[in-house]
Amino acid sequence: MSDNTTLGNAAPEIILPEVEINLFTPKKPTTATIAENYICTDNSSPNVIRHITIDLSGTGLEGVFRSGQSIGILPPGENEKGKPHKLRLYSVSSPSKGEQGQAHLVSTTVKRANEEVDGVFYTGVCSNYLSNLKPGDSLQITGPSGKRYLLPENVEEFNFVFFATGTGVAPFRGMIMELIEAGHKGQIVLVFGCPYRTDLLYKEYFEGLDAMHLNVHYLTMISREDRRENGAKKYVQTAIEDYSELLSPILGANNTLVYLCGMKGMQTGIYEQLAKQGFLDYLSLRGDLADKDPMEWTWEELKTQVKPSERTFEEVY
Ligand SMILES: Cc1cc2nc3c(=O)[nH]c(=O)nc-3n(C[C@H](O)[C@H](O)[C@H](O)COP(=O)(O)OP(=O)(O)OC[C@H]3O[C@@H](n4cnc5c(N)ncnc54)[C@H](O)[C@@H]3O)c2cc1C
Repeated sequence: MSDNTTLGNAAPEIILPEVEINLFTPKKPTTATIAENYICTDNSSPNVIRHITIDLSGTGLEGVFRSGQSIGILPPGENEKGKPHKLRLYSVSSPSKGEQGQAHLVSTTVKRANEEVDGVFYTGVCSNYLSNLKPGDSLQITGPSGKRYLLPENVEEFNFVFFATGTGVAPFRGMIMELIEAGHKGQIVLVFGCPYRTDLLYKEYFEGLDAMHLNVHYLTMISREDRRENGAKKYVQTAIEDYSELLSPILGANNTLVYLCGMKGMQTGIYEQLAKQGFLDYLSLRGDLADKDPMEWTWEELKTQVKPSERTFEEVY
């Protein structure tokens, strides 16, 4: 542990930066160009996820996107009702300075949203459109979107615990790049969950950071391959108990912020575990839940009456 755990001292104020939002909207989008588009999952993974970099030169958006914000993409064409396709949001996965420090480049991480329901195979409109674009192709974009899901301005005062499932790791790639570049001294933990090891995203980058920096910890929770000590499956939320030696002092410090991003529903399990382990400062409780023992909270109560506190940042989709 570094000395950046101020348990006992006053908790630092969370100062969020002022950011630009909605400079371009679905009614008034701007045209950008694809700079690069490559698969970033293992070749053998059936889940095709791509790292896509967009060139913003001449759009008025150069240097504007912050890590944690999202880019709006307008896919061409119409839906089954004859209306233009709606905007879809994609998290920025580059740091605020731009991909590779270049202000005109912004990246995102896109999963092809395809699924079979009752024997019918459906393909997602925008994720497949984006995934099929080639360097040099143009696309209509909007944004930036989002004004709270950001790193605070006073990052040096905090430890960070990031929970990601799948493409939910996108904002954390950019945020962690920024923290590393700033020489962050506090603890940085990334808990990444996915079904198979072949679905790990930006694995080499995060493994390298973990190996090089004593304060960076990369924990992978591979639900269909890894098993907990009791034989049960590992999920992002089980890390709170599975790695309690590392995580308890960090989560127990009053200068730690929790971020979670990824699949809708992931927050419930994380909030349940935080509550059961006594880390209630990350939660804001509705109704009379505060009067009940967290060990007795029902799943329904967890879903409807537990919200993120100001120390928790949630983006699920
Ligand atoms: C803030 C935010 C950030 C996001 N960041 C990312 C990101 O970084 N990366 C990322 O990949 N995604 C991200 N998303 C999700 C993204 O916006 C899209 O929702 C996602 O890509 C699916 O869009 P689509 O147009 O491809 O699929 P859609 O066409 O909207 O379809 C949605 C799903 O339904 C299925 N489907 C289509 N028709 C039917 C039908 N009739 N019956 C049953 N199923 C059907 C499709 O196969 C698909 O799986 C984010 C969302 C939000 C809100």
